[in-house]
Amino acid sequence: MNKVIIAIDGQASTGKSTQAKKIAVNLDFDYRDSGAYYRAITYYLLNNNINYDLIVSQEIFDQINIEQTYNEGFFRIYLNDIDITDRIRGHRVSLNVSNYAKKPEIRKFVYDQLRKSAELNSLVVDGRDIGTVVFPNANFKFFLIAEPRIRAERRHKQINDKSVNVDVIEKEIKLRDKIDSTREIAPLRKADDAYKIDVSNLTIEEVYKKMLKKVKSD
Ligand code: C5P
Repeated sequence: MNKVIIAIDGQASTGKSTQAKKIAVNLDFDYRDSGAYYRAITYYLLNNNINYDLIVSQEIFDQINIEQTYNEGFFRIYLNDIDITDRIRGHRVSLNVSNYAKKPEIRKFVYDQLRKSAELNSLVVDGRDIGTVVFPNANFKFFLIAEPRIRAERRHKQINDKSVNVDVIEKEIKLRDKIDSTREIAPLRKADDAYKIDVSNLTIEEVYKKMLKKVKSD
C-alpha cells in the first residue's frame, strides 16, 4: 500500500499536535511532531552553550540522536536515550527555538529525520513548513490559525500555573509567529493547496471532525 502523508501546519498554539495525534490514532498512522525536533535540538545546544549565531557543525549533529514515539496516546521524545518530553516545553526553549529553527543546517537535520520516518509508515506530521517544503506532495494539507489572545488563553489553561501570566504567553506566541513567518528559509505560510481552518471559535472536537471529514471524503 502507498504511504499517506497528512501535513498539519499553522501558527503556534493552534492545537496542531492535538489534532495530529487524534487523526493518527483514528487512521492508525505514525505521528511526528516536527516542532519537538527543533525544541530538542535547541535544548541540546542551549545546554552546551552553542549560541544560535554559530554554525552547527556535523561533529555536533553526530552527537545528537533524537527519537520520537507515540504509543497508546502518549508522545515521548528522547535525546540520546534520555526522555526530555517535559523539558522541551519550558519557557527557555520556547523563547529560543525560533532563532535556532532559522538555521539551514538545523532544518536539514530535521527534514532528514522526517523524510526517513515517511519511508517506513503513513504519517501525520505537524509543523510550520510540512506542506510547503518537507512534504510538498502530501496527500492532505491543513493550515490552522487563531486569534493570538485566544491561543494564549488556551495555552495558559493547559499550563495550569497561576504564576505564568497570560500576557507573557501571548507575547511569546506572537514573537514566534513573527520570526517563523518572516524568516528566509521555509517561512510559515499556507500551502496553496492547504485547507485553512480558523480555530478561534471552534472546540477541539469541532476542528477534529472537520479535518477527518476532509480526509475521509477524498
Ligand atoms: O510546534 P512548536 O510550537 O512546538 O514549534 C516550536 C518552534 O519550532 C516553532 O515556533 C518554529 O520556530 C519551529 N518549527 C519550525 N518548523 C516546523 C516546526 C517547528 O520552524 N516545521
